[in-house]
Amino acid sequence: MLDQFNWLNLNFAPFNLINLLDIFIVALVLYKLMLIIKGTRAVQLIKGIVVLLVATTVSSWLELYTINWLLRQTMTALVVALPIVFQPELRRALEQLGRGKFFARSFINLGEEDRSRMINEVVRAVQVLSKNSIGALIVIERVTGLEEYIDTGIKIDGVISSEFLINLFVPKTPLHDGACIIRGDRVAAAACFLPLTDAPLAHDLGTRHRAGVGITEYSDALAVIVSEETGTISLAQEGEIYRMLDETTLKQKLTDGLQPKSSPSFYNLWSKSGGS
Ligand code: ATP
Ligand code: MG
Repeated sequence: MLDQFNWLNLNFAPFNLINLLDIFIVALVLYKLMLIIKGTRAVQLIKGIVVLLVATTVSSWLELYTINWLLRQTMTALVVALPIVFQPELRRALEQLGRGKFFARSFINLGEEDRSRMINEVVRAVQVLSKNSIGALIVIERVTGLEEYIDTGIKIDGVISSEFLINLFVPKTPLHDGACIIRGDRVAAAACFLPLTDAPLAHDLGTRHRAGVGITEYSDALAVIVSEETGTISLAQEGEIYRMLDETTLKQKLTDGLQPKSSPSFYNLWSKSGGS
């Protein structure tokens, strides 16, 4: 009995410590990688690869030799194709690593009070912009980092206020064209260029609305859009657009949509980011 105990002690103690550390680091790296690819095309591609892997295994079990051969050839081709297809995501990951942000906190979790103050400032600004039919596009960052879109605009990093937001979108001023991005309770940047959605939208919605919806397909951000043509307020979230919102509804939707997430599980990343 004692011998057995010693054996366990000697063999498992170093095994546990080193391997726990090993597993922890791998889990952390995988988690960070998932945050980076979350909301991007890469999620769809990973789903495709999983389907191919399952199909290859099943065809091998069922001894479907031709199908299995074809699938294995496809997998070989994918090894070459993947770095090309994933190039933007790989570039982003390497850039983050280079900037030392890989292990940094990837989002700012505002306290209840600061979050509600930020929402109030946004809603107040949007009301004024809407009444004056000033076009605006305000993106609120959540867990997915929007650094690559912030880089396309002019960096500001100023404490948010409704007056400041209104000022940003005054026509014919240098920062009015494009989107402003909010990170935490600060305006990170203005005049940013966002990806446009390919989804079919109502005919009266142009590129400002397409850009607002587009960023919510690529990330978990929320986008508030004020139409220059009609003064109407819309909110984009997870690739959907909610139109003709009044002050109360917008405030409610922002409050609900910006609730802090419990640490994202693999299931959430898998099912939500793919958008399907
Ligand atoms: P509105 O109802 O205000 O007219 P819209 O959806 O019809 O909006 P446009 O009339 O095409 O859209 O609005 C053009 C403006 O949208 C541009 O001046 C620019 O500020 C903004 N915009 C267009 N494309 C982008 C983009 N990719 N990223 C950020 N902002 C953009
Ligand atoms: Mg228009």
